Amino acid sequence: MDLACSDISYCKNVGAKRADILRKELGVNTALDLVRQYPYKYIDRSRFYKIAELDDEDTYVQIIGEVTEWHTVGIGKAQRLSATFFDGTHQCELVWFRGVQYVKLQRGIKYLLFGKPSRFNHIYNFVHPELTPMSKVTPEMTQGLEPYYNTTETMKKHGINSKAMRMMIAGLLPDLKHGVQDTIGMDVLQQYRLMNLTDALINVHFPKDSLSMQNARARLKFEELFYVQLQILRQMKRRELNPGFTMPLVGSRFHALYKALPFDLTNAQKRVIHEIHDDLKSGHQMNRLLQGDVGSGKTLVALLCCLLAVDNGYQTCIMAPTEILANQHYETLKNFLAPLGDAVHVALLTGSTSTKNRVPIHNGLMNGTIHILIGTHALLEDKVQWNNLGFVVIDEQHRFGVAQRAKLWTKNQMPPHILVMTATPIPRTLAMTVYGDLHVSIIDELPPGRKPVQTIHYSIIRQAQIYSFLLKQIQAGRQIYVVYPLIKENESMDLEDLQNGYNKLCEAFPEYRISMVHGQMKAADKDLQMQRFASGETQILVATTVIEVGVNVPNATVMVIQNAERFGLSQLHQLRGRVGRGGDQSYCILLTNDEISTDTRKRMNIMVETNDGFRIAEADLQLRGPGDLEGTLQSGTPFDLHIANLATDGRLVALARQAAKDILDQDPLLEDEMNRIYKRRLDTLRIEAHNWSDIS
Ligand code: ADP
Ligand code: MG
Repeated sequence: MDLACSDISYCKNVGAKRADILRKELGVNTALDLVRQYPYKYIDRSRFYKIAELDDEDTYVQIIGEVTEWHTVGIGKAQRLSATFFDGTHQCELVWFRGVQYVKLQRGIKYLLFGKPSRFNHIYNFVHPELTPMSKVTPEMTQGLEPYYNTTETMKKHGINSKAMRMMIAGLLPDLKHGVQDTIGMDVLQQYRLMNLTDALINVHFPKDSLSMQNARARLKFEELFYVQLQILRQMKRRELNPGFTMPLVGSRFHALYKALPFDLTNAQKRVIHEIHDDLKSGHQMNRLLQGDVGSGKTLVALLCCLLAVDNGYQTCIMAPTEILANQHYETLKNFLAPLGDAVHVALLTGSTSTKNRVPIHNGLMNGTIHILIGTHALLEDKVQWNNLGFVVIDEQHRFGVAQRAKLWTKNQMPPHILVMTATPIPRTLAMTVYGDLHVSIIDELPPGRKPVQTIHYSIIRQAQIYSFLLKQIQAGRQIYVVYPLIKENESMDLEDLQNGYNKLCEAFPEYRISMVHGQMKAADKDLQMQRFASGETQILVATTVIEVGVNVPNATVMVIQNAERFGLSQLHQLRGRVGRGGDQSYCILLTNDEISTDTRKRMNIMVETNDGFRIAEADLQLRGPGDLEGTLQSGTPFDLHIANLATDGRLVALARQAAKDILDQDPLLEDEMNRIYKRRLDTLRIEAHNWSDIS
């Protein structure tokens, strides 16, 4: 019987009613779909514990021993049964609240106890354990790893718990053993020493031992990642064949700015500009990711590349994630470009640009007199029409995944070259998946003369000490950022924190001036406050994370982060990058509550230990998991991952990418007979992914 074709309702242990629930809750239609529901954990039933060995409260264990004593308390429904279990050296307690009348205990015989221990007053106890007389224990019961399955509330309500899932899948085992059609070719299986699909599906549910379980899971993870890569790389290949604007010339504006720069470019900056210029010359559309740590000089690279395009007769734009950042880019670019006089026309378009001011911008874009347009998402509006847009810079922070980008690119007949800049480094596995459709350039060098920022972690109870440190810095002529978390821009409690913090600082530093910026202020007020700080008129800037990205005030030497436990690592690193931009020693002070979780402590320690953005990004991924990184990465991969994990399966991501690349290098459109299986499965996955997003 072909599992892929057999309707789930006719399978053993299932039936019409359960089939209906499986369909609705898990999208399971066929027997194969059910077999594709993988366990999320296993319990080792070949291992026997002693009570003295127990230490982890969260894992299931089995122990052999006797019941020495028991008694019931209460009556009727409130009845409860407690028993003492003795393994020969130590004892523990067993408790039942429900079904007490069905528990039959016997003295003087050996039992197999199975359950999850928890500790109370130095005594381990098991609530509702499985207790089986040894005479009734079959070899199968204590053999190998027992799979556990995720189930939804609705499923549980209808009796489909993990055990029921196990039984239903076990019912399919005989058919499964006849074999299912593999989704990966023999050559790839051999090259990467992967289990075939049939063996993998058998062993993921009912593994012989822990090694076969791991091999089965590795194979299934590989498969998922392989198809993600196949999809991403195929898209990338297709786009590479797209014609693109050719921009061979290195022209006068580029040279003029290059000569006017008050410093030399770093070697890394030069290398990246070459890489981009090679793309611009190639005749194909560029899709490139520019990575570099905070302060590595990405903005200048972007500007120089815009000038390459402008010198070739094209218009360009830079899209920023926030208005503040767009403003900042605008100011920065105008400063850099000042020596060039009016050879380059730069304009700014954001949500708060007035209707009156929009008219000349719209005209300038249409007739080609504006060379560089800077703005927010407002740039994507249909009303914004170009004469000849040839080069687009997207300055983002994990905002778009592959899927959204794909939509963005295909707006024009002839798409412009695209440069995506990230605010902070991205871990390699994410770069290969969420940004896997882009070529990557890395600025792995900071401009010379930077002193590493010194990072200190304090508990808020040392506030007074911190104030006296801040005072010294201000007296030395430096400026200070004080940042408060704001998860949602409209959470009034956070705003209150910010306001209180501002008031306290005003009291503590009466002879100095303080600016305040937050997301609910009018854009004009924000700008005014930022400008006062940037010009040195105010000494302290109290703000929410709106200042996170891009803000550049070299005279600021201290970054105080309040409630640092509420920020992610990448965000903390990004904030820290706001200082250390001038020649003076800078400091980042992380303030947390006195009592913090182990997780928070780990994060603070990493911040104190290293300034390396790539290391921090990796640590962030490990600690928080990929689904949890800022922004929404959920839609960042073309297909959902069910068994692979981007945080822990980095090695498999790299292998899967290599395998997919090898195939597409030979056969970019998957037309060969031998690659049919890939093409067919990709089509199926795409349809499923599409259906799913329609529903949710
Ligand atoms: P990023 O956007 O990568 O975080 P920026 O582009 O904001 O970094 O650059 C940080 C600062 O370093 C800016 O003030 C910029 O003018 C300056 N800068 C850029 N390149 C160099 C260089 N090669 N040498 C010295 N300073 C540089
Ligand atoms: Mg920047």
